[in-house]
Amino acid sequence: MDIEHFNLNPNLKILVTGGAGFIGSNICEALIKNGNKVTCLDNFATGKKTNISKLIDNNNFTLLEGDIRNLDTCKQACIDVNYVLHQAALGSVPRSINDPVTSNSVNVSGFLNMLVAAKDSDVKRFIYAASSSTYGDSKIMPKVEDRIGKPLSPYAITKYVNELYADVFSKTYGLETIGLRYFNVFGRKQDPNGAYAAVIPKFTTQLMNHESPMINGDGSFSRDFTYIDNVIEMNIRSILTTNPDAINTIYNVAFGERTNLNQLIEHLKIFLSEFDSNIKSIEVKYGDIRKGDVPHSLASIEKAKKLLGYNPQFDIIKGLKEATKWYWDNLRK
Ligand code: NAD
Repeated sequence: MDIEHFNLNPNLKILVTGGAGFIGSNICEALIKNGNKVTCLDNFATGKKTNISKLIDNNNFTLLEGDIRNLDTCKQACIDVNYVLHQAALGSVPRSINDPVTSNSVNVSGFLNMLVAAKDSDVKRFIYAASSSTYGDSKIMPKVEDRIGKPLSPYAITKYVNELYADVFSKTYGLETIGLRYFNVFGRKQDPNGAYAAVIPKFTTQLMNHESPMINGDGSFSRDFTYIDNVIEMNIRSILTTNPDAINTIYNVAFGERTNLNQLIEHLKIFLSEFDSNIKSIEVKYGDIRKGDVPHSLASIEKAKKLLGYNPQFDIIKGLKEATKWYWDNLRK
C-alpha cells in the first residue's frame, strides 16, 4: 500500500480500535509507516499479538489493552486523539446467531461507548467499520447506499444500529462521522482458523495443507471480495476529506465486481499451484447452505468514487495473488 501518495499529515494522532485484528492491524501498519502516532485499543477477543508484533517497539505505537464495553477505557483511549478508526467488533454472522447477546454488547454498547468518548474529547472525526450485511434481504444489485433491506442476522442488526447511532451523534452533537460498509474483506493476516473463519483464508490454508475445502451450498453464491489495501485507502480518504457533502454519511467499500465460490476456488488453486502443483487436483466438497447468508452481494462504488475520489488498486485477481503468497510464506506448515 503506497500511503505516501496520499499526503496524510504525519502529525495526526489516530486511535484504531480493534487494531490487533485483521483489518485494524493492517491499518495500524500503514499509519505507522506514514509516521503517525497510533494508539491501538484491543482486548484480543479475536485479535492477535502476532498481528502487531512488528509495531510494538515503535515509539509512535501505543497498545492499550482494554475492552470497548468499558466507557472509561474508551475515554482514556480518546485522549489527544484527532481521528478514530473504529474497527473493534465481534464479526461473523454465525457467531452472532450462536451468541446474539455478546455480539450485541460489543458491537452496539461498545460502539456507543466509543461514540460518547469521541464526542467528549477533541476527536475531529469518527470513522467506523460498517458492513455490507446491512443490505440484508434486499435483492437490488448492485447495492447502493440508500437502498437497504431487512437484516438477516443479529450481526447485521448491530451493524445497522451503528449507522443509526452515528447519524444521530452527528446531528445532535456535531460529531463528524463516516461509516464504511466493508464487503468481504481479504488479505494478509486474516485469521484462517476457528469456526468463524472467512472463506478466503480458510480455503487457502486448507488447499495448502492438501485438504478439500467445503463450500456451503452449490458454490453459486457470490461476493464482492475486497482486498485489504482498498479498505486502507478508504480509511485514509475518509480522514483526508474536507468536502462537507462527504462526511456524516456511509460508503460501500468494495471493488465492484462479484465472484462466486466455485470461481474463487479455481483462482486459489491456480495461484497456489505455482508453489505446489499437487494443489491443482484437490477436489471440493459441498455442504448445506448456512443460515443468515445472503446469496449474492455486489456493491456500487460510485458514491465513494464521486465524493472521496476512491480509486481501488486491487481487483480480486491482483488481491488473491498477494494474499496467497502471504499465506504461503507465513502460514505454511
Ligand atoms: P477481527 O476479528 O480480525 O478484528 C476485530 C478486532 O476487534 C479484534 O482484534 C478483536 O480482538 C477486537 N475486539 C473485539 N471485541 C472487542 C472489545 N470488546 N474490546 C476491544 N476490542 C475488541 O475482524 P476484522 O475482519 O478485522 O473486522 C474489523 C471490523 O470490520 C469489524 O468491525 C467487522 O465487523 C468489520 N467488517 C469486517 C468485514 C470483513 O470482511 N472482514 C466485513 C464487514 C465488516
